[in-house]
Amino acid sequence: MNQTYIPTSEAISRLIQELNKLPGIGPKSAQRLAYYLLRATEEQTRLLAETILSVKQKISLCSICFNVTESDPCLICRSDRRDTAKICIVEPPQDILALEHTRIYNGLYHVLHGAISPTEGIGTEDIRIKELMKRLEDSRVDEVILATNTNLEGEQTAMYLKKLISPLGIKVTRLAQGLPFGTELEYADDVTLTRAIEGRQEF
Ligand SMILES: [Zn+2]
Repeated sequence: MNQTYIPTSEAISRLIQELNKLPGIGPKSAQRLAYYLLRATEEQTRLLAETILSVKQKISLCSICFNVTESDPCLICRSDRRDTAKICIVEPPQDILALEHTRIYNGLYHVLHGAISPTEGIGTEDIRIKELMKRLEDSRVDEVILATNTNLEGEQTAMYLKKLISPLGIKVTRLAQGLPFGTELEYADDVTLTRAIEGRQEF
């Protein structure tokens, strides 16, 4: 918030501050949203507040793939129409949404909830790698698709996983073709993502 900003009320400036903490919401957008909410009916704002709260209360992590879910195991892990011999590894759970949207992939997923990043102090123990390895030992998987982001952390993580998984005799592929370096999966368009899945290469 710049210094010339004069808050009109404590409550409004608090709302602006909270909105400003959301990803992709700068101070200007936060102000716009706050004033939009002020104009909205009480019913509209209550619905929004309750929806946000209910997401926090109802959603937990799937005990198999660590996707966000209302029921454990999640719908994908429970489905009998998925190819259980393939596991696609993603960083955040919202990347599953992006990949599902393409309708091209029919296997299972595993959400790491982050990437290895020495600069941010995120090590191999801090993301769901242990759980992945346990999963691979316990089930018959013939391909692991590394769909971590194409930035430095994503590449480091992919490399580390490849070293761990290859000795198990499982084919490791990397979803990268068509995705420029630095791409976050959730922002890639359907066509690019479809091409990236179809053109995945042995890693
Ligand atoms: Zn699951």
